[in-house]
Amino acid sequence: MSEINKKESEELKKIKQEILEGKNCPLYKYRIENGFYPVIGQGNHQAKIMFIGEAPGRNEAKTGHPFCGRAGKILDELLDFVNIERKEIYITNILKDRPPGNRNPSREEIEDYAPYLERQIKIIKPKVICTLGNYSTAYIMEKYGLKDKIQGITKIRGKIFETGDTFQNVKIIPLYHPAVVAYNPNMMEVLKKDFEIIKNI
Ligand code: URA
Repeated sequence: MSEINKKESEELKKIKQEILEGKNCPLYKYRIENGFYPVIGQGNHQAKIMFIGEAPGRNEAKTGHPFCGRAGKILDELLDFVNIERKEIYITNILKDRPPGNRNPSREEIEDYAPYLERQIKIIKPKVICTLGNYSTAYIMEKYGLKDKIQGITKIRGKIFETGDTFQNVKIIPLYHPAVVAYNPNMMEVLKKDFEIIKNI
């Protein structure tokens, strides 16, 4: 491992430790009461592409791994389709703990967990951020100065948003959350088309 790799991994380890201890984690109590794990993130610490989901589901919270359940299988299929391996990318969520009953994250939860995500982005320095679903899309676009361009995911999915010099020219690509395919299998084709955009850049 090079010195740079080592530094990134150590900084990511620090984040892991803080989350394990429940620092600023509003769902820590729920995590412990249910014997869940936090889901911190997984993949290449120098990835050029980072995927950001919403929050861990039940399978993820039981294992500590992001996108390992039903939505994860769909994500794997999509990555396969464009010949991207999981080990090339980094995958994480805004929330690092599963919300009770799989409910949507609250504004306060997003605000409390987001500093961890921001630190992860700073360490990994991806060139492309793919946001999965409305929550991560709105959060990331606002952070990257694109607040006026935020619309529902149906309108902006598959578009490439340039962030400019202020944000090191990171490209943001909003995508449907893979879970939509579980509810409507026809959506797979739409997602495949959008994933081709990632491959092309
Ligand atoms: N859905 C998400 O948004 N993240 C996961 O890790 C799993 C399901």
